[in-house]
Amino acid sequence: MPLPTQTPSDIPLADPDPTQTITPTPTPTPVSIDVSQIRLIEGMDVFTQPNISSGHVWGEFDTPPWNINITGRNFPCYVGLSSEEQDASSIIEVTVGDIDIKPSPISSEPYMWNSCRDRSKRMSQFDISLEIPALDFGEHEITVSVGNKIAREIFVNSAIPVIPETFKTYDLTDAIVLGNTAPSADHVMLGISPIRSIAGRELEIRLRGLSHLPQTTRACVSLVGPDGKNAPIASDSGAEFREQVLGVIMSPDESRIASWIHPGVGNRPGKWSIYIDLYHSRYSDSIFRNMLNFGANRGAADPNYQGSVLIQFQLEDLQLVGVESVQIGLPLTKYHREESSVFFSDDVPSAAAFDSIARLELAAVQIEEILGEVIGSIPNIYMVGDIQSGDRLSQAVLGRNWTPEESLGKRGGFYKGGGSPKGIYVLVPSARSVLNRTIVHEYIHHVNHELSQSNPNLPSWLNEGTAQYYGYQLNYDGEDELEIKRALLESMERSHLAALSGDLPSLKSIEDEWVGDPLHYSESDMVVRFMIETFGPSSPFDTVRQFEKADSTIEEALLSTTGLTYRQFETGFKGWIRDWSGRTLELDIHGLEKGIKKTHNCSPIKALYKEQ
Ligand SMILES: [Zn+2]
Repeated sequence: MPLPTQTPSDIPLADPDPTQTITPTPTPTPVSIDVSQIRLIEGMDVFTQPNISSGHVWGEFDTPPWNINITGRNFPCYVGLSSEEQDASSIIEVTVGDIDIKPSPISSEPYMWNSCRDRSKRMSQFDISLEIPALDFGEHEITVSVGNKIAREIFVNSAIPVIPETFKTYDLTDAIVLGNTAPSADHVMLGISPIRSIAGRELEIRLRGLSHLPQTTRACVSLVGPDGKNAPIASDSGAEFREQVLGVIMSPDESRIASWIHPGVGNRPGKWSIYIDLYHSRYSDSIFRNMLNFGANRGAADPNYQGSVLIQFQLEDLQLVGVESVQIGLPLTKYHREESSVFFSDDVPSAAAFDSIARLELAAVQIEEILGEVIGSIPNIYMVGDIQSGDRLSQAVLGRNWTPEESLGKRGGFYKGGGSPKGIYVLVPSARSVLNRTIVHEYIHHVNHELSQSNPNLPSWLNEGTAQYYGYQLNYDGEDELEIKRALLESMERSHLAALSGDLPSLKSIEDEWVGDPLHYSESDMVVRFMIETFGPSSPFDTVRQFEKADSTIEEALLSTTGLTYRQFETGFKGWIRDWSGRTLELDIHGLEKGIKKTHNCSPIKALYKEQ
């Protein structure tokens, strides 16, 4: 049957002409049929609008045919024409953009007109499933006119953004299939950026071509290092999952790109594997919040599980020029910069060491600006990759293990101001934001040490408080802004809540005992914030300087910089912290979180792939 040539506007749909009679028309002849009779009967104005639906946006990998559904209810019957004649008269008009499409009913129900054949029915209905041609990428208006009713809908045929050239790409159909089931991964590409990935630096992983709708494919991605262990994954507040290392769920958004940034600061060089488990979901998102349970049944037990594949790639070690080997409890590599050196064990990627000394040098410049004076030389930095290496190094320099026995948590770093070798000691964490905070924190201990050489017993709340405060402040709006702010809010709320419940320790009690209690860190940070807000930005370091002067006490130092006695100072602080509100920071965090989906975690790889 030829396509009708008229457009809907050519048909006098809404212009009944009483002089025209209903004449059976053997061929499609424009404007020859009076369709006024199929207009709505007065008083029956319910559900008469044709309704178009297809349910989704078509994406690049949805192969035609593409169907749309048109429904109409309570249309008056059109009598007097055979169904062929009705077909030919194009009573239902469909256009996609500028193209007329002849609807051909696919559903079991016939056209509306036929369902009124017995003439006892005054109203009819229709359900048509209509195939539309492949469309160019972009938005398309689909118009359906029935009688004098018109419905319009915009459909989108979207091209998926390509993975940029800064990524190295892998076709998942070329991946190693794990187990017996190859998941359907047609069109799915994996991208890793940068192309030459460096151990110890951030990696971005993208998957392109996962389906989004009507059913979503989610990928549970795990990174496994050359040692056969999962890469540590940082939580949203930067804390490392220590008990169980998990993978990350990536689900595509409307752009059908799923992406994940892995901080990678502790990733060692060598051959890495990305395990990708694919799951389909027809269910609501809430099901996937329970992905942990899901993943626990990995494989056939999970009805949504589609199979797993593996991609291997190389992480290169950054080549540092002019390194030396030294031995301090364990073999260390020494890399010397202009003012100081970084020493690192074999389990620390060279890039992490290089980036850390660069961060330390930046901290020195930042603090010089704040203090208005140069603070001695930049200390050396000693870095270890795990607690065993840390113990060996610490035994050699301090004669005890890395984490002191009385400490409440694993120690992230420390500053050694006396004896040899002096410097900053750091255990590389999994999140870069935590590493940068630790470097600045320990550097502030160095600054305080230099400022109070003759009177070294600075109260811990002031020493740790300035270290905590600047650890956050000097990384506040850097690359890891969101991570830093989340961690800060969590820390601030800790002592605010303790103050409200009356559980905040007295300053006296945290003057010299330090067991690494998070509440003590939080409280000390808050004291420094109170000082800065109330007595000006220079007041914390001014107090350190006053403390140094002629063997002053903290009482005298505070009186000199704040005009308050120790007791008045503490009373003022306790009032301030009770009234403190994290609202501004919270809003700031919500702003940064917009568009970023919280990372979900899925089950760890249990059976590792063994190379043949
Ligand atoms: Zn400290």
